[in-house]
Amino acid sequence: MNIEQVVQTAVSDLALGSVFTFDDLYGVVQQRRGRRLRIVELAEIGDHDGLCAVWLTTDEDDIIIHARTDSALHRQQFVLHELSHMILGHCDGDECTETDVLLPDIPPHTRARLLRRQDLDSDTEIAAESLADRLAAGIRGSAFAESRYFEVFG
Ligand SMILES: [Zn+2]
Repeated sequence: MNIEQVVQTAVSDLALGSVFTFDDLYGVVQQRRGRRLRIVELAEIGDHDGLCAVWLTTDEDDIIIHARTDSALHRQQFVLHELSHMILGHCDGDECTETDVLLPDIPPHTRARLLRRQDLDSDTEIAAESLADRLAAGIRGSAFAESRYFEVFG
């Protein structure tokens, strides 16, 4: 399957219809993975320098950590990109980042390294970015900004 087909199949499998809220999407992803999903903003890291987001897994949780940004659109893209990796099953192999570190204890320079945008040329990155765009197109208006599923560390 080419990337376009992979993304199309993933969208169909989510069965969210053509218009949905971020919370609908959150619910589907969490249910499919059978784990708690947390979305955490690191308040002291900005979205300059190409910093974006990272997906970590622990024994109980999936955690998306993203840089602070004043742009709701940027935040949405950071989070949707990481959600897309989950939806596409990109963490089922060895490339998955794992941590058992309590996040507030991670020193700032380490956090910045974690949040550095990774190689955007690989197939998994292109697929995740493409699915994120598709999801963004389905999410209506301010639904994302109004989500209750956001935490802030900092
Ligand atoms: Zn990625």
